[in-house]
Amino acid sequence: MRIVDLIASKRDGHAISDGDLRELILAYTAKDIPDYQMAAFLMAGYLRGFTYHETVALTEAMLASGDRLDLSQLSGPTVDKHSTGGVGDSTTLVVAPLAAELGMQMIKLSGRGLGFTGGTLDKLESIPGMRTRLSTTELITQVQRIGLAVCAQTDDLVPADRAMYALRDVTATVGNTALIASSIMSKKLAGGAQAILLDVKVGSGAFMKTVSDATELAKVCVALGSNAGRATRALITDMSQPLADTVGNAIEVREAIEVLRGDHQSRFVDLCLALVGHLAALSGAAPDPQTGRERAAQALHSGAGLDRFRRLVEAQGGDPHVVEDTSLLPAAPVVHDIHAPRDAWLATVDTEAIGRASGALGAGRETKQDVIDAAVGLTLDVKIGDRRQFGQVIGTILARSEDAAHAGEHAVLDALGWSPRPVEAPPLIHDVVERA
Ligand code: URA
Repeated sequence: MRIVDLIASKRDGHAISDGDLRELILAYTAKDIPDYQMAAFLMAGYLRGFTYHETVALTEAMLASGDRLDLSQLSGPTVDKHSTGGVGDSTTLVVAPLAAELGMQMIKLSGRGLGFTGGTLDKLESIPGMRTRLSTTELITQVQRIGLAVCAQTDDLVPADRAMYALRDVTATVGNTALIASSIMSKKLAGGAQAILLDVKVGSGAFMKTVSDATELAKVCVALGSNAGRATRALITDMSQPLADTVGNAIEVREAIEVLRGDHQSRFVDLCLALVGHLAALSGAAPDPQTGRERAAQALHSGAGLDRFRRLVEAQGGDPHVVEDTSLLPAAPVVHDIHAPRDAWLATVDTEAIGRASGALGAGRETKQDVIDAAVGLTLDVKIGDRRQFGQVIGTILARSEDAAHAGEHAVLDALGWSPRPVEAPPLIHDVVERA
């Protein structure tokens, strides 16, 4: 194989054979192919696209670049869930304990925030003492003991994706369906769970801006998972506004704990229950999503989910007292209210801009090396379709300084579009995608 011939072949719209794709991915992972040639290949593929057959070969080659988790020692149904990334999306913190409470074994390999999206590991690490790097043995033992673990992917799982994702990030080649699907699914397949639920986000705070693009991505991911013998399903869910009422790290943990106390009703809670319901149905822990959802609601209201979260925190070295006392979480020195600019209905949210506003306060990172500030972030207590009066408090900025708080307030207000007439709330779940 001459890499330059493969680049030319993709550039001219020809299909690449399984063997060539495999060789390319493995050679790149071994650093036998330089970044500039891989970047040229990725851009050719980004522009020309990949057939489904090529996408399968890409996924298999990426999977072959590293180890796979062996979950054969776990007895219950093993499940995993993945969100394609959004703003104010801390569903894992609620879904994982509820799923464990329903008898599922949740092995959640999570990521860090990058750009405008948040990451579960960063959020969890805002709990004093919490560790997110577990060895494979620790992970398996913990899941055997308490039914769940939420931790970082080990370095030997899909190294090809780590190298390729970093390159795609700086060469404008992230947003291609085949590249995203093979990236996500190679990691999910390497994670070893029997049932995989994907939460494919759509809207102004997601990679996929239209329902048809999100559905296309979901179909490819579901086909890749199903063809690999895993029970796979995807929900297409709304990211036209932050999912929960908080955006940041400690503040999102606080909201998740409040939700697990069982006295919240919101779109966020609704989506968490739907996700657990589908996971339960997919894994056989419940006969159908509705029954799974009802059982999840019981586990939420009884406090069992909160107790399971406490055990997760304790098992991973965190201070379990945060569950009763969220003031133990890092807090920002400046808390500044945001006021509604007029009497009107909220009509649009530039969700990416909200994520960037939180990032600019210090809650996110632009490069992988950036250090995040767990204490800062924002709250936004208004959803599309809600009416607010001029001057009413619609949120808060949690900042390190008054200047940062003012900049954050302006960024949030600029991201909101208001209407003098009533506006309908967007659907929370647009569609459910299953094997064709
Ligand atoms: N998430 C991933 O894991 N990979 C992508 O390519 C995009 C989002």
